[in-house]
Amino acid sequence: MEVEVAAKRIGVFGGTFDPIHIGHLVVAEEARVAFGLERVVFVPAHISPHKLDVAVASGEDRCEMVRLAVRDNPAFTVSRVELDRAGPSFTVDTLRSLHAEYGAETQLYFVMGADSLLAFKTWHKPKEILRLTRLIVVSRPSYALDLEALDRELPGIAAATDLIDSISLDISATDLRARVRQGRPIRYQVPCAVAQYITEHQLYAGDKA
Ligand code: ATP
Ligand code: MG
Repeated sequence: MEVEVAAKRIGVFGGTFDPIHIGHLVVAEEARVAFGLERVVFVPAHISPHKLDVAVASGEDRCEMVRLAVRDNPAFTVSRVELDRAGPSFTVDTLRSLHAEYGAETQLYFVMGADSLLAFKTWHKPKEILRLTRLIVVSRPSYALDLEALDRELPGIAAATDLIDSISLDISATDLRARVRQGRPIRYQVPCAVAQYITEHQLYAGDKA
């Protein structure tokens, strides 16, 4: 008798995480529960192709902050796959690596906010990405989505995408960096251990605007 084995479902959450914040964690948890993901792998970008001039904390600092942020959730893990790969961090390469790591039968779900989906067609090899993963897209304040319009520009994207509603948290890493620079609070917008890490390592305080 043939026994059907359900494919393992793994979430992949890429980002600069400069720094990781509560908005990211809420998105990952919503996606995990909505799709029964066995785990969500957070992948801090080495050099994000989308932000070649923006990352202001080192890869090691950003990775450590992600590790601190996810350590109390057994389903959340961090991958160094992009940090350990030279050059710009292309999602398509990351998905290929993760497929090799988890096995071809694993269904990957790439998790992103609405702003990322709007820019998706400009990513490196977007059609190849859609062959490797489904997309879980979470609403984000100020970013309206029109999947039909996106599908006209990149046929297939609508069928590969699941939209989920999450609570709206208008938190961004850009705003958090500005807050630190200006001496305004970030407490409660990032996990406690991340706020401590930023203070101890004097991150962002001397950023240029
Ligand atoms: P920055 O302001 O530096 O761009 P960010 O807050 O957008 O930082 P990223 O590391 O760029 O954080 O985001 C990683 C992923 O998380 C992206 O897909 C982004 O859309 C999503 N994301 C970040 N913040 C939120 C939020 N508050 N709500 C929903 N999605 C979010
Ligand atoms: Mg962003």
